[in-house]
Amino acid sequence: MLGLMQDWPLLIHKIIDHAALYYREREVVTRAPEGPIERTNYGEIAVRARQVAAALDKRGIKLGDRVGTLAWNTARHLESWYGIAGIGAVYHTLNPRLFPDQIAWIANDAGDRALFFDVTFAELVAKLAPHLKTVEFYVALTDRAHLPKADIPNLVAYEDFIAGMPRDFAWKEFDEHTACGLCYTSGTTGNPKGALYSHRSNTLLAMIACSTDTLGLSGRDAVLPVVPMFHANAWGIAFAAPMTGAKLVMPGPRLDGASLCALFAEEKVTMTAAVPTVWLGALQYLEQSGKTLPYLKKVLIGGAACPRSMIEIFEKKYGVEVIHSWGMTEMSPLGTLGTLKAKFADLPYEKKLDYKMRQGHPPFGVEMRIVDAENRELPRDGKTMGKLKVRGPAVAKAYFKGEGAAAFDAEGWFDTGDVATLDSDGYMTITDRAKDVIKSGGEWISSIDIENLAVGHPAVAEAAVIGVRHPKWDERPLLIVVVKPGQTASKKDILDHLAGKIATWWMPDEVVFVDAIPHSATGKIQKTALRERFAEFRLPDAAG
Ligand code: ADP
Repeated sequence: MLGLMQDWPLLIHKIIDHAALYYREREVVTRAPEGPIERTNYGEIAVRARQVAAALDKRGIKLGDRVGTLAWNTARHLESWYGIAGIGAVYHTLNPRLFPDQIAWIANDAGDRALFFDVTFAELVAKLAPHLKTVEFYVALTDRAHLPKADIPNLVAYEDFIAGMPRDFAWKEFDEHTACGLCYTSGTTGNPKGALYSHRSNTLLAMIACSTDTLGLSGRDAVLPVVPMFHANAWGIAFAAPMTGAKLVMPGPRLDGASLCALFAEEKVTMTAAVPTVWLGALQYLEQSGKTLPYLKKVLIGGAACPRSMIEIFEKKYGVEVIHSWGMTEMSPLGTLGTLKAKFADLPYEKKLDYKMRQGHPPFGVEMRIVDAENRELPRDGKTMGKLKVRGPAVAKAYFKGEGAAAFDAEGWFDTGDVATLDSDGYMTITDRAKDVIKSGGEWISSIDIENLAVGHPAVAEAAVIGVRHPKWDERPLLIVVVKPGQTASKKDILDHLAGKIATWWMPDEVVFVDAIPHSATGKIQKTALRERFAEFRLPDAAG
């Protein structure tokens, strides 16, 4: 017997319609790439999204067509997402931090028929245009006065593109499983691979993001997603904010500490989200300027492991709750969130920190398990490390065009490529990416644990640990350190700081000091680049 409830498709344009009806005047504030602060609201965004849809429809963009975006977090980018998806086309976010030939490869692979871009990227787009085989026209996300002079064919200013288009254009009708967004992961092994989100998965993602023990976004929040819309759906905030009626503050291109902290204060931001490297900069700025975070209540930190010292500074010094989270492009991206469970409420702060350091527990809608090399499930004892696999309605079941099929097993589990432990309370701890794990004498050493401890040293700005060849142990850890400006630290200082906090056989064999550690286009430490740089490195006792 079937239930008798309505078949109400989960379509993302229903989110912006909901916002327009119930939170019409709730503000969306943008630091525009052209410079000024611009203000609009959900009512206007919904109307202009329909105009984008109408303009694309007029140009012959159809169900399933891909439309690329090369843009910062702005209101126009948001309108474009809803407009593109509202006719059943697919917004395809391109990461401007990739090399131009990578961007061209991805846009060609996706077959983007149009490209929306911010004026910041005009020169980049002019360089890319001759190589973009499928792009028929370009929309600069600006008005005619700021239209770039760069040599870009079939170029139109966004404001001209949507001018005169019907404000009540009807969304197209299609199934909730229809593709909605496309985002390529970095191509650390082989070519980049596309995660293809559906209307249903994005709507479920937004509902997950709104629930209290995840992002816990409320209509009374003012949220500033530092995490870019081109990095895994801005972690769901571009959907969750209009769904709940939260004020949205879009930082545009200026993601430095001073610019972000100014926006936090001016717009009374209560919640924000970004990768740890962004917070390294922001916390340094706060320390130097003596400024505070008077309105901020909560910060979501994920995309790479969040050091213990960072959680402590946010919580103790600035009174801002940290939610450490883990996820991936292939998971839309929410995987686990580190909110504290009720049973830990009365623990002393240091013990609470032990739990907050972990990557968190999965919300309803994410299943996870760890397995060994033969795909046998491993115990949830908080100690055993295994390959982390996931399932859920907002988890990829395949990559775009069937690439990378080996990551998906017959039971529908997706291999995250991460190595983790799971404990009996459901908390997951990432020990490494499988390819970054250090194998010493047949055992695994977690580079993340050592890095986290090293950045807890007051003079250390950033730290990375890689495995280097060792004749006896196969690999041993090498600790690479960037010291904070104006500070000093010796190898002994750093090793003394680690001593007693990790097993002796985990202690790095050597510490090297560098000016900077390279980061990927999504702000993660680029271990591959470090391994190349230190490929010939000889450890002090590895002469034999
Ligand atoms: P990319 O590989 O393009 O940077 P993702 O953002 O999808 O894209 O990367 C996901 C990976 O980032 C995860 O598989 C994991 O290795 C790492 N990661 C994400 N969040 C965390 C975290 N909180 N702690 C440790 N690693 C993390």
